[in-house]
Amino acid sequence: MNDSNTSADTITFLGTAGARFMVSRQLAASGGLWLSLSGTEILVDPGPGSIVQSTKRKLRAEKLSAIIVSHRHLDHAADVNIMVEAMTNGGFNQHGLLFAPADALEKEPIIFSYLRAYIEGTEVLKEGKSYTIGTVSFTTPVRHIHPVETYGMLFQTSRHTFAYIADTRYFEELHQSYASEMIIINMVLTEPRPPIDHLSIPDAESIIKEIKPKVAILNHFGMHVWQAKPWTIAENLSQQTGVRVIAARDGMKFDLAQLDDN
Ligand SMILES: [Zn+2]
Repeated sequence: MNDSNTSADTITFLGTAGARFMVSRQLAASGGLWLSLSGTEILVDPGPGSIVQSTKRKLRAEKLSAIIVSHRHLDHAADVNIMVEAMTNGGFNQHGLLFAPADALEKEPIIFSYLRAYIEGTEVLKEGKSYTIGTVSFTTPVRHIHPVETYGMLFQTSRHTFAYIADTRYFEELHQSYASEMIIINMVLTEPRPPIDHLSIPDAESIIKEIKPKVAILNHFGMHVWQAKPWTIAENLSQQTGVRVIAARDGMKFDLAQLDDN
């Protein structure tokens, strides 16, 4: 049911599949992250199935204050139009913001123009900028290395900081950029496979060792990661880093209060 406790900070993983094959075969669900932060609801990266997974979990799109798209790839943006329609009740309740890189809004926009009229506005994500949505603020500290313009996000709520490290090739600046209590890592690969611009298990290990968050959550699994069982990989990474590493599961709801336990 929808949360009666509006003071809770939770993250629901609508899906955990990443990249083309996992998503097109729906070996795991896809659909993005649903953030509920002290009563402010934000949807991040509405990939294919976002409308299905969110309604199935009784998450109500009309309560969303914003939708954030890290980059224009389909596994992050395919359902943005239907989610805007749902957020605004088919345009009858005009509200909400859409955040996306310029690349996703300009030449070949991810959002249809008639739906753009339903929302309060669009905000362009840029390197080093800060944004506010209700009680939540976030920054996009660094442009990622990925075939299209891509940003991850560092979120600040009244009580917690956490980072969403969206698709990228590994580079050292990720460490300083996303230092926080909890990090979500989109880990598509088991091994680095240049020239593919995605994070792998050794990359996740370096990031976790450098940032030393209280919790790291692996997400957005490619086929090889899936075959190697994400929860086994998470267990090994916990042992290697001394940090609690969790593999996200479809529908998993993570309560940020877990970060206060020690
Ligand atoms: Zn991508």
